[in-house]
Amino acid sequence: MRSLNVTFILLLKRCFISHDEKKNNFRIILAREKLKEYCFVLFLIIGNMKKKICIIGAGIGGLSAGVYLSNNGFDVTVFEKENIVGGRALSLNGDELDIEEYRRILSKFNMAIAFSHPSLEDIFNKKMLKGYRIDLGFHSIEGGTLSDVGRVVLEAGSNPKMIGSKLGLITDNGYTFPLVTLKDKISFLPQILRLILSSESTMKKLDNVSIADTIKKYGKGKMKLILELLPRVTTTVNDLSRVSTGESFRASQSNLKRGSTPVGYPIGGLGTINRILMNKIVKNKSKVVLGSRVEKIFIENSKASGVQVNGERFNFDVIVSDILVQNLFDIVDEKHFPKEYVTYLKSLEGTGSLCAYYSLKKIPQDLLGKSFLFIERYTGLTGDDVVGMIEFVTSVPESKLAPPGGFLVQSYIICTPNEARSKEKLMLLRDILDKNLKRLIPDYQDYLNWVLYPTIWHLDGVAKTIDNDKPDIKTPVDNLFLIGDCVKAPGIGVNCAVKSAQILSNILLNQ
Ligand SMILES: Cc1cc2nc3c(=O)[nH]c(=O)nc-3n(C[C@H](O)[C@H](O)[C@H](O)COP(=O)(O)OP(=O)(O)OC[C@H]3O[C@@H](n4cnc5c(N)ncnc54)[C@H](O)[C@@H]3O)c2cc1C
Repeated sequence: MRSLNVTFILLLKRCFISHDEKKNNFRIILAREKLKEYCFVLFLIIGNMKKKICIIGAGIGGLSAGVYLSNNGFDVTVFEKENIVGGRALSLNGDELDIEEYRRILSKFNMAIAFSHPSLEDIFNKKMLKGYRIDLGFHSIEGGTLSDVGRVVLEAGSNPKMIGSKLGLITDNGYTFPLVTLKDKISFLPQILRLILSSESTMKKLDNVSIADTIKKYGKGKMKLILELLPRVTTTVNDLSRVSTGESFRASQSNLKRGSTPVGYPIGGLGTINRILMNKIVKNKSKVVLGSRVEKIFIENSKASGVQVNGERFNFDVIVSDILVQNLFDIVDEKHFPKEYVTYLKSLEGTGSLCAYYSLKKIPQDLLGKSFLFIERYTGLTGDDVVGMIEFVTSVPESKLAPPGGFLVQSYIICTPNEARSKEKLMLLRDILDKNLKRLIPDYQDYLNWVLYPTIWHLDGVAKTIDNDKPDIKTPVDNLFLIGDCVKAPGIGVNCAVKSAQILSNILLNQ
């Protein structure tokens, strides 16, 4: 605001000086045009300041929208039903957590602890999580510091402090790192250049082509392996006949253009990002109200007009939902929407996985800071070949996620939401995770402090597959918008949630 005022004064000065000179008509016109332009921006900001926006949910999507909108002068209120911000990108403090609270939080986010060693009771009775910060489950941010998450942190006026990592591959008796070597990059150069230069219309044409079909046509040697691995990780779907070539290529194109590390993890855990975003919203004189479930969205004359929280009505100009789209009709009456829209939203599928957090007493030096993919062939699970990741980024002491003498290793293996709820399938998935960690550290069990295996059947709100079209940010009801990882926006997971918030902000600024 201060810099705008300074510009305003300078423009006024320029206008008068030019006028006094009465020599250069062109300069006068230019200055007047600039003044008009400035007044228009000022008018927009003052207009937005009056607009009251309600955001339902303080997940990373809701918090990002809160930052973008309050930075642009909107009066924002974020209602969050839990007493903690971050949603599925939640970080938990092992010092404060008790077993009931841990189970309760996990169940709120469609998760449970499938297995652990020792028993969960022993882990909590012996206070084994003291000094650890863990997310609900494995988290790694595609694109690292240069990701959309990094950008919203910058927008909030802070520096995204992330540890970036390249990807390696676990092999039968060890690993190769990096997966894509300089030699590979040189041999892939024509394909890399074609990908970087591909237009959005080319990507759109590839949106409905499955990666399975692309592999049949172009997948040879190392390129085949890369096409089998990366699209699975970016979508958390193993069945390549459902994974879109356009979506996968778009993600790789964006990473190549930005020149970022493939993945990254914030120092201090994901919670640090949520706190930065929340503090910025509050600093902008907007609000984040915790422990406040939105019970109802009011729609009058086909327009969203307010929400009910704790039995009380609050009026707003715009209402933005960051909750899982499948749950939208728990808080808004379906009768206001076309029938097909209701059926469509309710039918959308998420993705699943089994995660494992291993706490080890020591880690071989060569593994520290690295991330590894693995592919387990012929498993009989959906997609047959299943992909997962084991990361030692969280094991680096600077990550500040474990107490002295503890090294946190986070990992996950992709499965369907149904497999994530089947004890039998989960046992198979757990054995694959353990087997792959053993390939990296053959005697890891000798150094194991504890291990937790959280299972999740709603990792991504809506799977980004060719048969599961994500809904638009605009809804059929005026003044009601959807954001988060469930909606149509570039990227996947946390990046999709952040990007949707940025797109929403542009929509509202141009309204
Ligand atoms: C175990 C796990 C691992 C993951 N790993 C990765 C990964 O490695 N990389 C990646 O990019 N993504 C990953 N994801 C996905 C990522 O966490 C999500 O994409 C992202 O956090 C979604 O954010 P969101 O804001 O869209 O939704 P959410 O986080 O679901 O936020 C919605 C918020 O709304 C609140 N809410 C719901 N109903 C109401 C109501 N009626 N009133 C008020 N508040 C309400 C909820 O409590 C929640 O806080 C993972 C997810 C999980 C669960």
